[in-house]
Amino acid sequence: MKHIILILMFLLSITSGYSLDNENVEPIIILKNATILDMVSDVGRKGTVIINGQIIQKITSENDFETPSNAITYDLTGKFIIPGLIDNHVHITHGSLKQAQDNLETALMNGVTGVRDMGGDGRMLALLKRNMLIGENNGPDVFFSTIIAGIKFFENDPRPGQVALGAEAGNVSWQWAIDKNSDFDSMVLQAKGLGATAIKIYTDVNKSLMNKVSQAAKKQGLKVWAHASIAPTRPLDVTNAGVDVMSHAGDFIQYELADDIKDRYAFSSKAEATKYKDQIGSIEFDIGNKKVKTLLSAMKKNNSYLDATLWVYTYRDDESALIRAQKATRLAYQHGVKIVAGSDHMINEENSDINIHNELALLVQAGLTNIDALRAATTNNAEGIGEESNIGSIEEGKLANLLVISSDPLLNITNTRKIQYVFKRGKVYKGIDSSRFAKKY
Ligand SMILES: [Zn+2]
Repeated sequence: MKHIILILMFLLSITSGYSLDNENVEPIIILKNATILDMVSDVGRKGTVIINGQIIQKITSENDFETPSNAITYDLTGKFIIPGLIDNHVHITHGSLKQAQDNLETALMNGVTGVRDMGGDGRMLALLKRNMLIGENNGPDVFFSTIIAGIKFFENDPRPGQVALGAEAGNVSWQWAIDKNSDFDSMVLQAKGLGATAIKIYTDVNKSLMNKVSQAAKKQGLKVWAHASIAPTRPLDVTNAGVDVMSHAGDFIQYELADDIKDRYAFSSKAEATKYKDQIGSIEFDIGNKKVKTLLSAMKKNNSYLDATLWVYTYRDDESALIRAQKATRLAYQHGVKIVAGSDHMINEENSDINIHNELALLVQAGLTNIDALRAATTNNAEGIGEESNIGSIEEGKLANLLVISSDPLLNITNTRKIQYVFKRGKVYKGIDSSRFAKKY
């Protein structure tokens, strides 16, 4: 008798469990007849993407799959599906929380489903990360860094203080001032506890300290990000320290070639600093130079990606710096260094244009093929933040972070602006077509 009751209870539990699941089940979304640019292949293919909840459940070229009764079908004949874009270089917490939320929502509607924040108020970043993740706010998923830098940065730069209001700049879990006696393991653990994806090593960190910080971060499974040149440490030592993503293509090769490299705090006047910068910028470089070749080979071997941030030079209206940065990007790309796409300036506050689209166009102008520019903003960016198993490409089992666009971005990269729908974690949003902002490069 006892056995029969147990069996009955068991049967009841599975049947009631089953019906409960059925009531709560999210609709299946079927995206039919589109050309899918999955980023695995170099070319598009016609097919159907089936989304179940947050996940891409199936991708098929067959048309005879079973359509569940709760499915919502989109006929996307003539349209293109690409992965959601990731802006690999943003600073989103320089205003109020409300501004950050609004900007992130605008970015999402413009096709950005992930951002990598390179320095801000960690308290706000942790909250934004949580809110975007669970859908309390609409916006891209947020991945952020804790800054570790030498004491000079905190003494001379107003920015750390601005994003540590109410606390002591350089002594909080999102920014640490270090010297050779610092407890790197404790700093990394506190950054991890806050929710940081990486440690960003900033200026005034010498080679030996950089190696120690990098090792401490990797021991805890955090990524390491840095500028490509952070005096007194040269780019070759940055990559050899195991830095995963190196930012800013402008003049980083010249910092490898210069006789003597100085940080921005080494000058008593702005004029002196500008003179030094111009001197660095005037150093000629090419792949025939042994030092250049050694640097780029090391970056390739170490899997250090180059975060070119080309848009920032345009934004600053510095034409010659843009040309140099594009040349450095092209050499790195041709040498097999992976390029990642980041704007360093996510949104144009005046017209709400989202700059990752400008960055993509500038990368193509620098010499990347359209598919590799798209990879810079999707698969490569996912790898740079260590999320490649979840995002960055259109593959079964990955998150349904997708853009439906009306024209082929392999024909013209500015077509990434022609967004009809954005899917983030399976949730659909009406996209914004920002073609009117497309610039000719
Ligand atoms: Zn930045």
